[in-house]
Amino acid sequence: MASFQSQESTDNSQFVKHVSLSGLTGGYANEQAIQAYRSILSTMEEKLIMLQLNNINNVHDIPISRTQNLINDMKQIIKNDCQHSYVENDYIDISPDTGRCITYCEKCFSTFD
Ligand SMILES: [Zn+2]
Repeated sequence: MASFQSQESTDNSQFVKHVSLSGLTGGYANEQAIQAYRSILSTMEEKLIMLQLNNINNVHDIPISRTQNLINDMKQIIKNDCQHSYVENDYIDISPDTGRCITYCEKCFSTFD
């Protein structure tokens, strides 16, 4: 990737621009892309639950592990690519007796400690 970023030739300007917009050099994903990410994430979460519910004799252990890794990667991608719009100190109930304040992004719903 570094070789693409260091390309200075005007002939490659279109390509360099494309690479920078893809997020590889820290560009942000727009709202449509974040929604696409979140849709992919929720589908993976549904499939994970389906595999867990049908994991008789641990037949799905490896696919479950791989799906969990994909979900974690997708969450990280969303967190990295979203230009967050922070909502601070929103109080969430953990149980009837306890709750805590969190910061989350109203675009991608990532949470922050
Ligand atoms: Zn966000």
